[in-house]
Amino acid sequence: MLTVNQLRCTISVLFLFFPFSAYPWGFFAHERINRLAVFGLPPEMMLLYKANLDYITKHATDPDKRRYMVPAEGPRHFIDIDLLDSPPYRQVPRSWNEAVTRYSADSLNRYGILPWHLEKMLALLTKAFREKDKQHILRLSAELGHYLADAHVPLHACSNHNGQFSNQHGIHGLWESRIPELLADETFDYWTGKAYYIASPREYIWQIITLSGKEADSVLRIEKELSNKFPAGRRFAYESRNGALVRTYADDYTKTYAKLLNNMVERKMRSAISAVAAAWYTCWVNAGQPPLSDLADNSPAPADSLDHLAPLQLRWMEEHCK
Ligand SMILES: [Zn+2]
Repeated sequence: MLTVNQLRCTISVLFLFFPFSAYPWGFFAHERINRLAVFGLPPEMMLLYKANLDYITKHATDPDKRRYMVPAEGPRHFIDIDLLDSPPYRQVPRSWNEAVTRYSADSLNRYGILPWHLEKMLALLTKAFREKDKQHILRLSAELGHYLADAHVPLHACSNHNGQFSNQHGIHGLWESRIPELLADETFDYWTGKAYYIASPREYIWQIITLSGKEADSVLRIEKELSNKFPAGRRFAYESRNGALVRTYADDYTKTYAKLLNNMVERKMRSAISAVAAAWYTCWVNAGQPPLSDLADNSPAPADSLDHLAPLQLRWMEEHCK
């Protein structure tokens, strides 16, 4: 067990080393996206998902926690599509086997495998519905929600993912954590309508990736232009979090950037919510719309048995506190 001091140390270290959040979409946005997607589901599905709303929300971030311990996890969260092709990226094989033949599995693991991993997750969730395996349905739904949300982040479809090639280090967290945390609950319109059926999942996934890849240029260019107008003293602010002084993007700078992006972050977050609901719904329909009422009626699986990542998270925290 961690002592209180170790825990404090861990939290401070995390903020010091990852002042702009190291997590894609930030924990805040991932949790919001999964949670809100539940409310677009039809009543037959809502029975199960609403009864497990906290699980679906809390476990939205599991894949990011796993990244630090499982080497195979990292490439599932992104694709450096600009290194493979230029928009609309038609040269990149949509089938995994063809992509491996063209680039090799090793190269793909360096460029990222997000679109192909999404297809796999859809197949796994459909299978879980067919088998009416409640534990798998919940876990795979939470994790599919995560990867789909990642696919909506332009910097996850770009090799310059944290502005490291253009002297914009930190832009990743500005876009996906700072803006949502500052503005989402206050100003974003979260209602995205009812879940729809995805007729061609592969095409759908690649549409999302293509759009994100194209948008990455604006995300970087607009911040670059804005940073030239704001002296560093007005770009950043310091705030105290858990006893540590943390540098963050200033409110004014963050809001101005969000506005110049023409509310892109809100648009993408809404689009992610709607895509997550649609993906869950599509898997359920493709599994033959199995009734879920008996799964929802049984008492939920004990949190501990579902919390398969607890030991991994603990190890991650311990390693960062040595
Ligand atoms: Zn991720």
